[in-house]
Amino acid sequence: MSGKDFDGFVVVVTGGSTGLGRAIAVETASRGAAVVVINYASSQAEAEETGRLCEAQGAKAVLVQGDVGEDVDCRRIAAAAEPFGRIDALFNNAGVTKFAPNHADLDAVDAEDFLRLYRVNVVGAFQMVRAARALLEAAPQPGAVVNTASIAGVTGIGSSVPYAASKGAMNTMTLSLARGLAPNIRVNAICPGFIDTPWFGKAMADDTVSRMREGVIRSTPLKAASTAEDIAGAAVFLASPASRHVTGETLLVDAGTHLGFASLSMR
Ligand code: NAP
Repeated sequence: MSGKDFDGFVVVVTGGSTGLGRAIAVETASRGAAVVVINYASSQAEAEETGRLCEAQGAKAVLVQGDVGEDVDCRRIAAAAEPFGRIDALFNNAGVTKFAPNHADLDAVDAEDFLRLYRVNVVGAFQMVRAARALLEAAPQPGAVVNTASIAGVTGIGSSVPYAASKGAMNTMTLSLARGLAPNIRVNAICPGFIDTPWFGKAMADDTVSRMREGVIRSTPLKAASTAEDIAGAAVFLASPASRHVTGETLLVDAGTHLGFASLSMR
C-alpha cells in the first residue's frame, strides 16, 4: 500500500542531507508524513534543500545538525520530535566509509579506521534508537526503526574490511534490538547494493565513478545502477503499515547483486 499511508507520521532521518537519506525523507513526506526531522552532519545547504523538497510535499521539515557518533547529539536529534509527541519512524541512515577495496591489503586500514566507522555506523545507530525509544513507544502503532546497512554487511564485499564489518554489526544489532524492543518497536534493516549517490564522488574522480556505474549495470541481474529513489521505497516499506508484522528483517535491495553470476547454461 502506498498513497497516504504515512498520514500524520513523525519521521526522523539521520544523514538526510543527500543521497538515500534525502530520498527517504521526501518519500515519507510524499506519503503524508506530517513532520520530517532531517539530521545532517556538515552539509547544511543540502539539508535545507531536503527540507524544501519535504515541505513541497506538505510536511513540516525540522533540521538538526548533529554527529550521530555523539550521544548528546543523538538526544538533541530525537528531542526535535518531542513537541510532536511521538516518532513513528526512525531511519538510521547516516554512514561513513573508508575506500580500501583490495581486502587482501591488510595494511590499507588500521584500528583508527575501524573505530571511526563503527562510531558512526554502529554506535551512532544504537545511540539514536536509545535516544528515540520513548517517542517510538509513544507512536499509536509500534514505532519503526529502519537501519541502512549494506550488502557489504551480508557478503563481505564493499569499500573496505572495516566498512563491511560495521554493516555486518549493524545487521546483527538489528536482530538484537528487534528482539529486545518488541512488541512496541519494530526494527529492520535494508542492505542496498550500489546506489548512485554523492557517496562515491566524495572519494573518487568522476570517470572512476562512471566506470563503476557502467560495471554495475553490466553485472547486476536487473542490469541497473540503483538510484536513491530506487532504494528509498524499500526502506519506507519497512516503516509503513504494509510491513506491520515484519521485524528483525535485513532486506537485500541490490538489483540482484547478491545472486552473483548467472547460473550454468546447459545449452
Ligand atoms: P551520502 O549521500 O554520502 O550520504 C551520507 C550521509 O551520512 C550524509 O547525509 C552525511 O551527512 C551523513 N553522515 C555522515 N557522517 C555522519 C555523522 N557522523 N552524523 C550524522 N550524519 C552523518 O551517501 P549515501 O549513499 O546516501 O549513504 C547513505 C547510507 O547508505 C550510508 O549509511 C551508506 O553506508 C549506505 N549505503 C550506501 C551505498 C552506496 O552505494 N551509495 C550502498 C549501501 C549502503 P553530511 O553530508 O551532512 O556530512
